[in-house]
Amino acid sequence: MTTNLMGMDRTALIEFFQSIGEPPFRAIQVLKWIHQQGVIDFDQMTNLSKSLRERLKSVCTITVPECMTKQLATDGTTKWLLDVGVGNGIEAVLIPETTRNTVCISSQVGCSLNCTFCSTGKQGFNRDLTAAEIIGQLWHVVHTGDKQVTNVVMMGMGEPLLNFEPVLAALRLMRDDCAYGLSKRKVTVSTSGLVPKIQVLRESVDVALAISLHAPNNELRDVLVPLNKKYPIEELLTACKAYVGDDPRLHVTIEYVMLAGINDSVTHARQLITILQGLRSKVNLIPFNPFPNTEYQCSDRETIERFQHKLMQAGLIATIRKTRGQDIAAACGQLAGLVKDKTKRSLYLQRKMIPITLNTESKLN
Ligand code: SAH
Ligand code: SF4
Repeated sequence: MTTNLMGMDRTALIEFFQSIGEPPFRAIQVLKWIHQQGVIDFDQMTNLSKSLRERLKSVCTITVPECMTKQLATDGTTKWLLDVGVGNGIEAVLIPETTRNTVCISSQVGCSLNCTFCSTGKQGFNRDLTAAEIIGQLWHVVHTGDKQVTNVVMMGMGEPLLNFEPVLAALRLMRDDCAYGLSKRKVTVSTSGLVPKIQVLRESVDVALAISLHAPNNELRDVLVPLNKKYPIEELLTACKAYVGDDPRLHVTIEYVMLAGINDSVTHARQLITILQGLRSKVNLIPFNPFPNTEYQCSDRETIERFQHKLMQAGLIATIRKTRGQDIAAACGQLAGLVKDKTKRSLYLQRKMIPITLNTESKLN
């Protein structure tokens, strides 16, 4: 297989250029062409000599997943369906808001963790994405979209920490000033709680952390997020405390999907308040996005607001993720893409008329 420069972070690219006898500054030039200028054709890299361009063409490629469709919602939310081969597709979503434009990125095709309220989990796992396919999503949004990207969230399909090295390369590119140059608070990794990797993440790259908690006790979390049986809440929250350390400016986002009659009572709110003591956190309550054949329903607005109010009374920061737009399907936990299933059929799960959930944090008092 030919080397693909697309998914290489600065260090890997420098090593590659050294391996072909070229100095490190060539790597920086190519990094800027690909990620800042959106140029993936060697012939357009005008500050490289003709002979170097020819040489590069013979030893490597720059390949991004091809865009199959691009859909625009009336509220400006845009969804790219990208081809990642043999019947698989992934979706990258751009969510424009007044003060920021957030891109939601996938790390795997499907997911093996089988959270009961998640459509991706219900599809099962197909494969890990390569670093090129992960950063390729951002590349498309930045270079074929019409909005300045300010934030990236790894909240699409898949569990990022289960595909660690490729995700890490992509995160480093997002942070690199010669690539996308996003600051550490503008790049968020969301995990369902792979405890050992949370520590490794912290040591490897500076990004914000979001935890898919969804339940305030192990009994319930074992059901909603089966990974909890391996890494229970106490261990997860200890890892979160270590992640933010002593830095008062850092916090962990706690994601909590609101499921009617399951995790949304006042007792649950009280339990949540207790377990979050001592952790600098912001709770983001996510209205559940339904999908075909799900057993769950979203809590009603009154219940969500009551839950939020309880948390805020106890001094926690709690926001409700805003839902808007109904004309293209791009909601959290619903990114289905194009997944080749075990019977070798290609499924494109149409999820029309499902509201899009945004990362807007609306504070209701
Ligand atoms: N695997 C990672 C990242 C992808 S999921 C994780 O679990 O954190 C991104 C977020 O969407 C998670 O908080 C997830 O719990 C949430 N989510 C999944 N299914 C959902 C649904 N049907 N409605 C609302 N949020 C959902
Ligand atoms: Fe996987 Fe996250 Fe969905 Fe759980 S919520 S199944 S970890 S994508």
